[in-house]
Amino acid sequence: MTDTIVETIPILPFGMLNAFLVVNKGKALLVDTGLPNSKMKIEKALSKHKLDWSNLHLTILTHAHIDHSGSAAEIRSLSQGDILAHQDEVQYCLGRPPVLRPTGTFGRLFQKTGAIQQPFDYFTPDRIMETDTLNLDEYGFPARVLHTPGHTQGSVSILLEAGRVIAGDLTASGILLGGIVMRNRPKQPPFEEDTSTVIASLEDLLSRGCEQFFLGHGGPLTAAVIKKHIEILRKK
Ligand SMILES: [Zn+2]
Ligand SMILES: [Zn+2]
Repeated sequence: MTDTIVETIPILPFGMLNAFLVVNKGKALLVDTGLPNSKMKIEKALSKHKLDWSNLHLTILTHAHIDHSGSAAEIRSLSQGDILAHQDEVQYCLGRPPVLRPTGTFGRLFQKTGAIQQPFDYFTPDRIMETDTLNLDEYGFPARVLHTPGHTQGSVSILLEAGRVIAGDLTASGILLGGIVMRNRPKQPPFEEDTSTVIASLEDLLSRGCEQFFLGHGGPLTAAVIKKHIEILRKK
């Protein structure tokens, strides 16, 4: 049994873009902040659990792309809780343009729209992760943050009880950006810095007993599906 609830926050509909609220004994942990102006969607998830901004103890950014960190500066102004990112992601939180390596046709077309390179409210994280793992006991959550690079250098995943993990954009599922239909079918996100590092990070999560993978785009996926996806990635 676990007391920890994972609430998916639909930043875009049909699973196209998710953030997550992790709730444990009246305390909330936000994983990713969505695009700019996502405040109301996050507030709605808090109030669903009878919580408000004062209950938000920590916000973790899986990485600094605009669709995950776009509302971080706004959340900082609403909550007393720390904003945490990995040290390799800090330069992008501060405004350096992201490294974009398209994984296919959709990524190349999407890159041309310029949507992911749009400027947003940049910020300095309050807490910078400099180690490979970070225990969240000090924040009151039975969870760990793991450095899982590949999608970006400083990508992290949040390991929860009962084999659950929030893995950001380490993989996606569905079509196009992710979500919509065929949400059980894994796919590479539109951009990925290094596929072999993604494989190593996914294997690391499997070796730690992860069974259910919550994703930024689409998901959740089972460990069995992730294993098959790794085999396909190896052949690329
Ligand atoms: Zn991303
Ligand atoms: Zn994303």
